[in-house]
Amino acid sequence: MQRREDLPLSVRVRFLTGRVSLDLSHTGGEGESARWEIVHTPADLAHWLGVILGVDGLTAGPMDLEAMRPLRTAITDTARSLAAGSSARASDIATINAAAAAPPLVPALGVVGAGAGWVAPTTAAALSSIARDAVDLFAGPLAERIRVCASETCGLLLVDTSRPGKRRWCSMQRCGNLAKVRGHRQRATTA
Ligand SMILES: [Zn+2]
Repeated sequence: MQRREDLPLSVRVRFLTGRVSLDLSHTGGEGESARWEIVHTPADLAHWLGVILGVDGLTAGPMDLEAMRPLRTAITDTARSLAAGSSARASDIATINAAAAAPPLVPALGVVGAGAGWVAPTTAAALSSIARDAVDLFAGPLAERIRVCASETCGLLLVDTSRPGKRRWCSMQRCGNLAKVRGHRQRATTA
């Protein structure tokens, strides 16, 4: 399994939302999101779900890919609606709930302190776990803290868990830093 820490920043930045449901949203989709697509085959799906959830040895088939797409679109549409101050669509809520109703991944304790493993993980269970994360996120107080990164060229989602609630960037390492550098340059030019 590839670990998200080992991904180059350009890719890793998609998986820094702190929520597996939004991380899945960042793997691509329809319309605007199609430019981000990295899940072209069942093998891609198994790979990226493994990265997002930290699960080893997932395998996926064409049915899994078909199950993932509407769930991902429903999560994306709901998150972006909420970020824009609108409400979620009933059909998206129904899609998320249907996926969440399937049995999720089951964690297993191996060595104490070494991180949990999973009992016979499947891609179907992984998608249920992601849908359940979406239920938890959209049902709770953080639903009001979902935002789109303030960089005009970014478009990634973030969940602002900071106490003041003023987070603007998907990551400080990328968009936050670029904005800081731009600010410095502008101030230098004006001075
Ligand atoms: Zn950004």
